[in-house]
Amino acid sequence: MADFEFLKWPFFDDAHRALAERLDEWANHDIAPLTERESDVDDTCRELVARLGRGGWLRHVVPAADGGASERLDVRSLCLARETLARHGGLADFAFAMQGLGSAPISLFGDEAQRRKYLPRVRDGEKIAAFALSEPEAGSDVAAIDTSARRDGDEYVLDGTKTWISNGGIADFYVVFARTGEAPGARGLSAFVVDADTAGLEVSERIRVIAPHPLATLRLRDCRVPQSQLLAQPGSGFKVAMATLDIFRTTVGAAALGFAHRALDAAAHRAVTRELFGAPLGELQMVQSMLAEMATAVDAAALLVYRAAWTRDCAAERVTREAAMAKLYATEAAQEVIDRAVQIFGGLGVVSGHPVERLYREIRALRIYEGASEIQKVIIARQTLAAYEAAAMSGND
Ligand SMILES: Cc1cc2nc3c(=O)[nH]c(=O)nc-3n(C[C@H](O)[C@H](O)[C@H](O)COP(=O)(O)OP(=O)(O)OC[C@H]3O[C@@H](n4cnc5c(N)ncnc54)[C@H](O)[C@@H]3O)c2cc1C
Repeated sequence: MADFEFLKWPFFDDAHRALAERLDEWANHDIAPLTERESDVDDTCRELVARLGRGGWLRHVVPAADGGASERLDVRSLCLARETLARHGGLADFAFAMQGLGSAPISLFGDEAQRRKYLPRVRDGEKIAAFALSEPEAGSDVAAIDTSARRDGDEYVLDGTKTWISNGGIADFYVVFARTGEAPGARGLSAFVVDADTAGLEVSERIRVIAPHPLATLRLRDCRVPQSQLLAQPGSGFKVAMATLDIFRTTVGAAALGFAHRALDAAAHRAVTRELFGAPLGELQMVQSMLAEMATAVDAAALLVYRAAWTRDCAAERVTREAAMAKLYATEAAQEVIDRAVQIFGGLGVVSGHPVERLYREIRALRIYEGASEIQKVIIARQTLAAYEAAAMSGND
């Protein structure tokens, strides 16, 4: 049962309300069987990307597809789309989100030629995008990136290993972050668009995870790209990565919200239909307590997610603190909501392939990628302390 009550909140305008309702209807008709599949994830993802492209939904992740930089990514639309698609199935959300994460560095920092070369085909679902930041020794610690990009005439030569790369193996291009060495640590990184068929780039290992989706380790060996594949200025790679994550972190919270919504729906339906001790399960007060906490957590997560999205769209260029809060709370809360749904289903909840069992696997990685929960806490604490330190210094505390 899709509950659209939250669309009355003041964060949205009528275009957002229409988007959420139309996408839900489209997903019911156009991708329903695909969202149930867990095998052949490569083919399923390619098909989902193609259908999302044909359906026109990917224009929300690539608003600058016609070459102009002025069309901004609307974070509320991204969040509504991810929440809706996640409710229908993890792979549908994944296919949509990765087209955005993998192309946002080009949307945000690409020059006109780069935007024209990649974005229209990402929007149409004809090119699959990927974002290659993490390395074996540089996950949470982005400043430790070791992949190098050495300038050689009009080219850069990339060497190193990228791992945990979503869409690795099926992507047509990767936005690769590498060390160009303008300064130590994070200030010496640059971002490059590397086509998947570039000589010297190979998928060295496919990684299997508990909620299957295309994921791989990439090896770059003497991988030469023309200078025209560099995004923004040399040395601005960290800025490119963080500005992208600033937008997509909030949307990870939205995906978690979609999973939590689905779990709450399933658990509440079970509570009113399952008879136990001569009455519906939902009449047991301890089950009511679980449902009350689940419903409250879902609404609280939605408020934080859409607060962050609205703030980015309407009030502030950077929303580091709001996005961190949205991702932290929504992903942690969704994990608890789903765990309780499994409990309410009893034995059925742990049967392989049952919707709540799938959600139980699906949610886990969201607390780790795009900054683990502990990283989000570090960000929130730093920003909170900075505000109080500034007040103390100015004597306004
Ligand atoms: C399914 C999946 C998909 C992914 N997709 C992509 C992708 O498309 N592109 C990409 O570039 N990367 C991707 N990643 C990588 C992801 O971003 C990293 O896994 C993540 O940043 C954590 O890095 P790590 O795995 O190296 O863990 P580590 O950095 O080793 O951290 C391990 C744990 O240490 C704790 N920790 C870390 N820092 C702190 C701290 N400051 N304080 C306290 N505790 C801390 C956290 O609990 C963390 O989980 C993906 C990962 C997964 C699991």
